Amino acid sequence: MDQIKSDVLLEEIFEITQGLYDEMHGNDGDISARHFKIFRLLTDLGKKLVNADRASFWKWDKRNHQLWTAAAVGTGRITIPDDTGLVGMAVKEGNPIITNDPYTHPNFNSDVDKRTGYVTKSILVMPVSNCKGEVIGAYQAINKIGNDGKFDIEEDVKRLSLASFICGITLESEIFLADSMHDRLTGIKNRMGFYSDYANTYSKLLKDMENPRNVSLFICDIDFFKKVNDTYGHNAGDAVLKHIAEMFLCNCRVCDGVYRWGGEEFIVVLPNTDARQAAETAERLRKTVMESVCEFEELKIKLTMSFGVGQIDPLKSIEDNIKDADEKLYTAKESGRNRVIV
Ligand code: GH3
Ligand code: MG
Ligand code: MG
Repeated sequence: MDQIKSDVLLEEIFEITQGLYDEMHGNDGDISARHFKIFRLLTDLGKKLVNADRASFWKWDKRNHQLWTAAAVGTGRITIPDDTGLVGMAVKEGNPIITNDPYTHPNFNSDVDKRTGYVTKSILVMPVSNCKGEVIGAYQAINKIGNDGKFDIEEDVKRLSLASFICGITLESEIFLADSMHDRLTGIKNRMGFYSDYANTYSKLLKDMENPRNVSLFICDIDFFKKVNDTYGHNAGDAVLKHIAEMFLCNCRVCDGVYRWGGEEFIVVLPNTDARQAAETAERLRKTVMESVCEFEELKIKLTMSFGVGQIDPLKSIEDNIKDADEKLYTAKESGRNRVIV
């Protein structure tokens, strides 16, 4: 590489590093938005290091057998089954893959080219790992600029190695963070997820100077849940919790937040909603739960739930707002269960 070119590259690396520092010190955007920007910057860095026309960083969603782009430079987000394409091959084999003639490669997936009219001429895929050495994603560079349009398995893999290593660590920390905010059993967000969403989203809606919004919440609890465990066993109890979480997700708006507060208690947060509207939603959910049946093995389990509803008072702490709703839930329990108290 001649002197001018490497000076330009150094300048670009410096600029990207500044962007990374800015992300670390900035106050705007929640942590997942920041991770996204970090992936973008690192992907851009990789693209420059190997002098490619396009680059993308892929996350491997092992549970859903999918690969999807965390950040792509030159294309929008793409999702593919994890047993397809060169990225799929690289993550399964755990080795870098290069082809300078993709259309003759049996694993090349030309769907994106067909859809977008882009012509892929060379590809470099580098798997990225977590600290345990398990592959969790991949880095893909497309169409080498210069060097006859060919990637070099020795040189370009070396050039990409540090950027893809950092991408792996960032991805791992993102996975840890997402796991810590979700409940393993039901898949919905947990208490930590609630506090994170409150800080990043709900409190901003409430405190929006120009256009403050109503935000309501209800806390609800399965009636006599202990009996389910005692009668049918703990696995049946777990199935009931999953059933309730699914029903809540199906019956709330996309903008509503559904959280497992703990045990058999859930919180639902409803943006742009006053107490009366929130009570209507709670009432609808109460009926849906009551009319539903949780099927587990041969069993058909019937349930009811009690609800305490309140509109969030922005002058009080979130803890006090929850306490208020919890008192209403307590009243609902005391006055016979299977009801909504506002
Ligand atoms: P109430 O109508 O007053 O709410 O009575 P309840 O029986 O629902 O309430 P209680 O607090 O007495 O019992 C809650 C039970 O929930 C006890 C606990 O073992 C069970 N539980 C908490 N978390 C889980 C879980 O993840 N899985 C299962 N299967 N049970 C759980
Ligand atoms: Mg209960
Ligand atoms: Mg309870």
